[in-house]
Amino acid sequence: MAFSEKLEAWYTDFGRTLPWRGIDDPYRIWLSEIILQQTRIEQGRDYWLRFVEAFPTVDALATASEEQVLRLWQGLGYYSRARNLHTAAQYIMNECNGRFPTDYDGIRQLKGVGRYTAAAIASFAFRLPYPVIDGNVYRFIARLRGISTPIGTDTAYSEFENILQTLIDRRRPDIFNAALMDFGSLQCRPVPDCRQCPFNTECNALRTDRVSLLPVKAPKAKPTDRWFYYFDLRWQHGETEYLMLHCRSANDIWRGLYEFPLLETDHRLTDDELHTNSIRFIQDTCACLPLNHTVTIEHHHQLSHRTIHARFVRADLPQPPASLPENTLATTIEDIKKIPLPRLIDRYLQQL
Ligand code: SF4
Repeated sequence: MAFSEKLEAWYTDFGRTLPWRGIDDPYRIWLSEIILQQTRIEQGRDYWLRFVEAFPTVDALATASEEQVLRLWQGLGYYSRARNLHTAAQYIMNECNGRFPTDYDGIRQLKGVGRYTAAAIASFAFRLPYPVIDGNVYRFIARLRGISTPIGTDTAYSEFENILQTLIDRRRPDIFNAALMDFGSLQCRPVPDCRQCPFNTECNALRTDRVSLLPVKAPKAKPTDRWFYYFDLRWQHGETEYLMLHCRSANDIWRGLYEFPLLETDHRLTDDELHTNSIRFIQDTCACLPLNHTVTIEHHHQLSHRTIHARFVRADLPQPPASLPENTLATTIEDIKKIPLPRLIDRYLQQL
């Protein structure tokens, strides 16, 4: 039996049912692929449903504000994906007459769409024979063929793509790709049960006892440490309590999201240093001394290349600030629900 026949037979029995499978709307397929990068399917499914409901068409996404898009994305991380989605939707409306590109090269022009995502959209929406290669597919094919090239690089992608081009079902590339992804995810798992595998008589890794050694992963750079001291500054105006949020414009992380006024340092402050710095920071920000202030323990927040060590300084101000610093707004706890926040800030607020 040919590779694709065996794979598709397995898929008929064990493949997943997902809301973006079996449809040919490139917009909805694109949404699913961007959401699922770096996200588990269970979590991604909820976000996909929310996005489709809020923005049922490319046009609806293009005309939304960036804040609306980021707010809906909140909790998924890697916010550049949301910003790229939004920019690409505007590009489709403005540069492509509102028509989603229908070939691989056109799809690659969309911001945030790499080789993998373009192959997924091209095959699922337009049945073009481009194989998809995600982490699960790398694992399966590396083991099946005994390939020890470190995965995740452009060179590895091309090597695996060449192999899969010889295996893909050209009549049904959409089914083939869905089957390939599910097989890598559900059967050829990190610790697989090879007795149940339909490829166990031809699997190179099983024959050479290298299942646990493949695929070979390129070494990851060690995350860098950053120390964030956030100032949750509150004041009363009439019956209402206000707090201050600052829109992050730096191009490193969380651009366009709101956080508390931030003091970032190049080392972990001692309690004495933090006390002195806090008073100075609050004075500089609000031109007044706080009535009181308390400090949380350190929270650790892991991003792909950085570890954030954050402490929150909660302070009550004697009066509203005379003016707000640039890119800063005053809001209430009620209204904060409409504002896009990094998960670190959202968790802190929920704990309060
Ligand atoms: S035999 Fe085991 S390692 Fe080889 S493809 Fe099947 S599940 Fe993966």
